[in-house]
Amino acid sequence: MDGGAAKGRTGGAATRWGARLALRLAALAAAALAVALIWASHGYLTNLYSEGLRNRANVRAAIYSGSLVNVLQRHQLIPAVLARDRSLIDALIKGRYAMTSARLIDVNRELGARSLILMDRDGRIVAASDRRLLGTSRADQIYFRSAARDNGTVFAITGIAERDRGFFFAHPVRSGGSLLGVIAVEVNLGQIEEGWARDSGRVFVTNSEDVVILSSTPDWRYRLLSPLLEEARIAALRSRRLGGLEILPVDEAQSGRRLRIDGVTYLRRERAIGFRGWTLNYLAPMDEVQAKVNAVMALEIMVLALMAAVIFWINSKRAWRRLLNLQRESEELRELNRRLSAEIDERRRVERTLARTEQSLEQASKLAALGQMSAAVSHELNQPLAAMRTYIAGARLLIERRRLEEALVSIQRMDDLIGRMAQLTRQLKSFARKGGQELRPVDLRDAVRGALSVMQPQLAQHAIELVTDLPRSPCMVRADQLRIEQVLVNLLRNALDAIRSQPHRRIALTIAPGRDYVIRVTDNGPGLPPDIDAIFEPFFTTKKPGEGLGLGLAISAGIAQDLGGRLVARNLKDGGACFEFHLPALQDMETAAE
Ligand code: ADP
Repeated sequence: MDGGAAKGRTGGAATRWGARLALRLAALAAAALAVALIWASHGYLTNLYSEGLRNRANVRAAIYSGSLVNVLQRHQLIPAVLARDRSLIDALIKGRYAMTSARLIDVNRELGARSLILMDRDGRIVAASDRRLLGTSRADQIYFRSAARDNGTVFAITGIAERDRGFFFAHPVRSGGSLLGVIAVEVNLGQIEEGWARDSGRVFVTNSEDVVILSSTPDWRYRLLSPLLEEARIAALRSRRLGGLEILPVDEAQSGRRLRIDGVTYLRRERAIGFRGWTLNYLAPMDEVQAKVNAVMALEIMVLALMAAVIFWINSKRAWRRLLNLQRESEELRELNRRLSAEIDERRRVERTLARTEQSLEQASKLAALGQMSAAVSHELNQPLAAMRTYIAGARLLIERRRLEEALVSIQRMDDLIGRMAQLTRQLKSFARKGGQELRPVDLRDAVRGALSVMQPQLAQHAIELVTDLPRSPCMVRADQLRIEQVLVNLLRNALDAIRSQPHRRIALTIAPGRDYVIRVTDNGPGLPPDIDAIFEPFFTTKKPGEGLGLGLAISAGIAQDLGGRLVARNLKDGGACFEFHLPALQDMETAAE
């Protein structure tokens, strides 16, 4: 039971350990899943919001490039148209410019250019929408020189410093092939840049050489966009008029659709605007996307954390319940322990009482045995004493009648009986010592004769038909003759008692040879009482008080057992009782001993 419990405990511990491992693995898997979920959703959301941003960038780039192209185209047309204006040509021919500036101011009111200027053949401003410019010379300006050489509209960018930056469309004014002057319009691109500056994204325009020429961020102007330009190209660019170009601090690692400038990542949209290889760039800051993604991620992480908290809570509640259960169980165990110790104490007490009781019982049984023994002794001695009384009475009669020979025989018989009694007491003494008496080979026929001689007077007195059938050859057993006789006398006396009231009284005594010798004593009495086994119990008797003690058969059965045999009783079919005294034959005993 202990082993089973131990096994149960080990089994329980193993199960608990397994469960804990499974729980840990599950927690690990859940954590990994959560990380994977966060990672995947981060990617997904970034893509999603980037898509939105990309669309917006596309739209903005389209709008800005459209409006830029529109402005440029509008301004581009004006110098060519004004170059054919009769009033301007006349003014230049005549050198009379009184009305010319008013005319230019008028035109510019519609156009909205930064300035509209008319230069004479020497580059001096003779008329302008801004009268403050009148009289100044533009002879060294590239747009004047290019237009003077050319026949069509030229475009030129002037200055690299913020204040003298200008975008000019210029057209020569000719009459009959000779140059009269140059008409130029300065496009107000600064205004457009101001419009871009209001956008959250960055807008800039690069020329065909990747130099930023327009930008919503003033700082970026005249910088090279591409960080990958070769040294030679940079050198060539530097030799040009734009002079000392700086490169935009573009992060090299990010290229293509994304750009990282001054630590900010942008989504880049390019659009060729179809004017001198210019490209409009729209940069949408990615941090907006990041902010949105972060907001959703924060929500997601919060939900996950909440779920983890709920699971943890449920788990801890379960653990708490388990703890309570454990506490209750240990309380029950303690209670059980208390009860067990109480029971053990009680048992010890009972054991002590039992020991005391046993002691007194032993004492009692000793006394009982003593009583039984005294009863047995008096019982066994009564038989020969009764026989002796008869012999004495017989001897007295014989002596009175002077039949001395016969009296001597009676006296001899009495002597035999006294010898028997002496032997009997010795026997009882040895019985007390148990097994003290030595066994010898005995012829059963002698024992039968001995018993019959003890019973002779009583058998004769009641006119009993005695049938004996003894084998011719000796029936040898290893035994104590006197004790066999003792058994047989008991059986004969019981038979005598049983048949006493029968009209015809018969007792048979036979020895049947075989593996066991069986001495059979049968009578034609009323038979045994219903509970046959009970007759061998000490003090069982059906006889009147004073007639029987109920010890004869108990003693006889004990003797039979001591001699290695047994005593059995049964009823005969025709009525009457049959007692069988089984004793192992001497040869068999010898063989068995061997
Ligand atoms: P006791 O003779 O003193 O009664 P026993 O032990 O010799 O004691 O016998 C016990 C009982 O067995 C007798 O009282 C009697 O009832 C029964 N009994 C013994 N032998 C016979 C017999 N031959 N026929 C009938 N009953 C018998």
